[in-house]
Amino acid sequence: MDSLEEYLAGELGPAALRDIEAHLSNCAACREEVDGMRQVSLWMGALKPDQVIARLAPLAKPDSPWFGSAGEMTAMALIKQGKAAQAAQLFAAIGKNNDVPEQVRARSIQMASSLGVDVSTAMPQTAQ
Ligand SMILES: [Zn+2]
Repeated sequence: MDSLEEYLAGELGPAALRDIEAHLSNCAACREEVDGMRQVSLWMGALKPDQVIARLAPLAKPDSPWFGSAGEMTAMALIKQGKAAQAAQLFAAIGKNNDVPEQVRARSIQMASSLGVDVSTAMPQTAQ
């Protein structure tokens, strides 16, 4: 389902939220996906950065439906590893991706620019 990432990011309006929750109560596959992502975010504090990166590697790709959340967590782990330049590139890629929830994109653009990569043009509505 397309809006699962928006659902986790808390970006859905009441109607969409009802739809998703109705779908989740009937669809084990989507339920599992959401639970999996929730678990990884809970474990973030307990896992070492290389464990976070390894665990999220299949999801932190631009064509993954979880690119925003998984990419963001991967980039945070990269920063902990001292790989700021790599993290900045990943944040920039998230910020430019139209499929990523807006809140996550805005956060990533901020992170990228605080790391020295200017991607403000990726989001015209916030650039001016
Ligand atoms: Zn489903």
